Amino acid sequence: MAKARVLVTRRWPEEVERQLAERFEVTFREGDAPLGQAGLSAAMGEYDVLCPTVSDRIDADVIAAGDRVKLIANYGVGFDHIDIAAAKAKRIAVTNTPGVLTDATADLAMTLLLMAARRAGQGERELRAGRWRGWRPTHLIGSSLKDKVLGLVGFGRIGIATARRAHHGFGMKIAYYGRREALPDVTRELDAQFYPELNDLLAESDFVSLHVPGGAETQGLIGAEALATMKPGSYLINTARGGVIDHAALAETLRSGHLAGAGLDVYPAEPQVPEELLDLENVVLLPHLGSATRETRIAMGERALANVVAWAEGRPLPDRVA
Ligand code: NAP
Repeated sequence: MAKARVLVTRRWPEEVERQLAERFEVTFREGDAPLGQAGLSAAMGEYDVLCPTVSDRIDADVIAAGDRVKLIANYGVGFDHIDIAAAKAKRIAVTNTPGVLTDATADLAMTLLLMAARRAGQGERELRAGRWRGWRPTHLIGSSLKDKVLGLVGFGRIGIATARRAHHGFGMKIAYYGRREALPDVTRELDAQFYPELNDLLAESDFVSLHVPGGAETQGLIGAEALATMKPGSYLINTARGGVIDHAALAETLRSGHLAGAGLDVYPAEPQVPEELLDLENVVLLPHLGSATRETRIAMGERALANVVAWAEGRPLPDRVA
């Protein structure tokens, strides 16, 4: 039987590209440049399997553009860049890579939280620019973490992993908002307080960290009103998706001093970064590094590969989302 034709839209770590190439007829993108809507649309008629990433927008037009693709095996856990309803309507299966990037992303949420609290980006910029005038008691004073309330918006895999680090490692108190209460074992372990209303959580938290999926349901969840509800002097951390925050409102809130700081890894129209944030000292801006460890990126590739292999062998897909 002919090998399935697979398109990998961006470069993967070498060892997983090799494993994929051993089993399938694979096209890799040598230059690692994005394919764009035209390239993705053309691929729908040329390949059996598409392996995209968060930087590929697989919208209804792309999905309608060709009839060959039967599986979209996403390299990543978030799938808000794929029109799931359109895929379902065409009986195209969609899979993701949950779990294997939880620790790396929670580590990055803590990186942002610490950098924002301790003004690390601001300090490094000052030092590199030759503006540092030496140690002094009132220089770049930040916030401690111990006994501060960390409010998690979305308490799934990454939200809980972030809470574990913050609670057991830094002595933070844990609160969370979600559509349901977490399992008793988890709330007991973290002494976590459940808030069924988002605004109540925002009003009580010294730090807020976002861990909900992107998409229509969470678009603009943290807008001007939510930001105004946050505690004066508090911090906002986002490793979820850029669309969850209204960035014009966030910039205003940071400029006014109502929020002490923010740490962001994701943006609504990547790789563009909202202009109004770039000259603010009290925001840490990272280029979507949540899962960017060598171990994690290999594990993500292996997980995507496991889904492609299961599909090729006619077995149930381990990480099916559609
Ligand atoms: P997860 O385990 O599915 O957790 C998501 C949580 O959000 C679940 O508890 C879910 O609750 C909750 N939720 C969903 N919709 C909600 C809503 N409308 N209001 C309130 N809560 C809602 O997913 P995960 O593995 O933790 O990943 C979370 C997100 O992180 C991903 O979707 C992705 O966008 C992002 N991410 C970013 C990076 C990065 O590089 N920065 C890396 C990995 C992941 P239910 O149980 O009610 O569904």
